[in-house]
Amino acid sequence: MSERTAFPVQGRPREELGATLERMRQGDADWRHGRVPLYVFGSLPEVEAVGRDAYAAYFTENALGARRAFASLGRMESDVIGMSLDLFQAPEEAAGSMTSGGSESILLAVKACRDHARARRDDAAFRGNLVLPETAHPAFDKAARLMDLPVRRVRMSADFRADWHAMAAAIDQDTMMLVGSVPCFPFGVIDPIADLSELARSRGLWLHVDACVGGYLAPFARAAGSAVPAFDFSLQGVASLSADLHKFGFCPKPASVILFRDQTYADFAGFDLDVWPSGRFRTGTLVGTRPGGAVAGAWAVLNYLGRDGYTAIAARLIAMRKAYVEGIEAIAPLRVFGRPDLTIFAFGAPGLDMAAVAGAMATRGWVPGMTSKPPGMHIMASLLHEAARPDYLADLAGAVALAPLVEGQQTKVEY
Ligand SMILES: *Cc1c(COP(=O)(O)O)cnc(C)c1O
Repeated sequence: MSERTAFPVQGRPREELGATLERMRQGDADWRHGRVPLYVFGSLPEVEAVGRDAYAAYFTENALGARRAFASLGRMESDVIGMSLDLFQAPEEAAGSMTSGGSESILLAVKACRDHARARRDDAAFRGNLVLPETAHPAFDKAARLMDLPVRRVRMSADFRADWHAMAAAIDQDTMMLVGSVPCFPFGVIDPIADLSELARSRGLWLHVDACVGGYLAPFARAAGSAVPAFDFSLQGVASLSADLHKFGFCPKPASVILFRDQTYADFAGFDLDVWPSGRFRTGTLVGTRPGGAVAGAWAVLNYLGRDGYTAIAARLIAMRKAYVEGIEAIAPLRVFGRPDLTIFAFGAPGLDMAAVAGAMATRGWVPGMTSKPPGMHIMASLLHEAARPDYLADLAGAVALAPLVEGQQTKVEY
């Protein structure tokens, strides 16, 4: 256990703090040069500057006060939601909110689904369970645990996508929500959302599309010529969709959106209470205080790039992913798992000790992303990883050459 830090008696000068921060980060992983395969996203230097400037301009404002004090933030949030509803082809009656990230967006979707289902069924015995592909993000289980809801994780297909037949078989009287990912985090493949949408419609269930990681990339990859299947509100069974601005939207953290097909669905996500001495308290999301900077930063970045800017970045990202996949598969015996749709991919080889490969990459200064089932390494690549590719592949070839062959290997993964 590390020693507990005492609360400082005297303050320290501002310059000293700046220098200390710089010194402290020396030991961190070198994300700027593509050595961190998750957590951070980069596009163009100007985009980062646009987001940072807008964030700093609204550093102190609180988006909780958008209705009563900071109308400009209310306007910006409504613009960001409007632009996102437009991007995801939502109908006129659709609505949404900005949140602190994918986990909060997913939590709100589960809450709205639960309260909607309970209001509709009017059956005291009904709890409501969730049927998910095993590749769905743990945020669904986190939400379900908080709300005491059962979760059924269903094995994926051989192509690493959700197996909607198996999901259909897992549905029972208590099922209320189905989930598909665009794409899933572990393998970067897009689930068969059109099939899930039909399944949801035919059974009267709520389909949530988790486009947290791919929402702000998939439409632009399609515009740049990639084959991206329909996944948004154009499919009638899609009730809600989450998309993270702070991932491939390249906006400052924390920023995500939760969108609902209908305002009445969105109302089930919100909170409205009038019991304390300060009057009515109303929020559309989980948290109270929200950083104004995140709202302004997202508004500025979306407006700075526009569809054209995002499409140009998507074209570079897809070309980069192809080059990574080719480079990896040129290193025998490595194979990329499935057919990644965007810029997330994982790879491994039966019988090759992938934990040893990852360890060797770590000693060469790369933070290794991992998958456990099957054992492999994982990359979520943004433009931060473009220039790093030759070095990465050279080090990977060296690591594979040294790795032992094993039987029944297991990789322990932790985020
Ligand atoms: C990142 C991610 C989430 C969770 O988002 P946070 O912003 O980390 O809370 C949910 N689903 C998928 C597919 C993700 O990649």
